[in-house]
Amino acid sequence: PDVDTGSDDRESEDRESDDSEAQALPIIQPVVDGTRRVLIHSFWREDLAPLWAEQWRYGQQAVEFHSEYTAYSYPWSHMTSVEGQDIIEGGMEFPMMTVMGSYEGQEASDLYNVTAHEIGHMWIPMIVGTDEKRHAWMDEGATTFLENQSKMEYWPGVDHHRVGARSYLQVSEARQEQALMRHGDYYEPGPGYGVASYLKPAALMVALRDVMGEEDWLKAYRAFIAEWSFKKPSPWDFFNTFERFAEDDLDWFWTSFYYETWVMDHAVGRVVSKPTGGATVTIEDRGDAIFPARVRIRTSNGMDFVHEIPVYHWLAGNDRYEIEVAPAAGSVVRVELDPGGYAPDVDRQNNFWPRGSGE
Ligand SMILES: [Zn+2]
Repeated sequence: PDVDTGSDDRESEDRESDDSEAQALPIIQPVVDGTRRVLIHSFWREDLAPLWAEQWRYGQQAVEFHSEYTAYSYPWSHMTSVEGQDIIEGGMEFPMMTVMGSYEGQEASDLYNVTAHEIGHMWIPMIVGTDEKRHAWMDEGATTFLENQSKMEYWPGVDHHRVGARSYLQVSEARQEQALMRHGDYYEPGPGYGVASYLKPAALMVALRDVMGEEDWLKAYRAFIAEWSFKKPSPWDFFNTFERFAEDDLDWFWTSFYYETWVMDHAVGRVVSKPTGGATVTIEDRGDAIFPARVRIRTSNGMDFVHEIPVYHWLAGNDRYEIEVAPAAGSVVRVELDPGGYAPDVDRQNNFWPRGSGE
């Protein structure tokens, strides 16, 4: 589609390329500069939906937060929310518009959540035109992620990424998952569709952010939105964008968690102290899904360090990894796997040594 590169809120520049065969395509770089005005409309019935008196504030915050976090300014002149309790519970997204229930009898934060979610859809699939039926995880996962991210600004105090991840991991542990790479119409009844389309892909965004580091991940996330705005990306465009910024092959991640429903479970195995001081700490991979491991070890001499086990160790077919703690460090007093808490690990009880010293 044609893009208007002359409008005030956009700048264009040539995409840099080291491939002399490739044609230089203009890339649109939207600017979040605080000068764009978006009308926030809210239509509701006072007698049926009293919570809606505050809804316009949620709409304003969501448009501002999402514009800033995605680095892609909301591109239209208005965002309109309509209360439609007679025809809907929950919410549904349309371009520049959402229809949502009254949320009567529920918490104000519930109305906030659905507002942040439906407005999140203005970025995906409205700006970035993913296929909602064939790859529901692309728009619902990214939107659930953005909803959780914005919730923590408006209602601070709870890590909503962790809350959502826990629900997904319970289903994963119960072996009730169905794969993400499946047409939306082909899920069996049960939690399969909801987990694969909403909770899991949102949790995977956070897990990948933890693996790549926030800076590189955010560049990839924003590049995906900017480069695929008003285009039709496939899952492989999504995968490629993140691999480009990770500067690494992430097939182990896509295969384990997007194509398959493999379960990930890292565990602290034996911790064997040596008479001369120091110890051998064994980390075990008890699942099928590949994931790097981060191990935090504290010792009696006050040492506190994090050891990284790269994915290549597991990809080579190993299911065990030994960490030698030097005698000078003293004895090991605590071992913790995934101190950040964002790895999609189904059993966190075995992430601690001594057992029970964790969550
Ligand atoms: Zn949605």
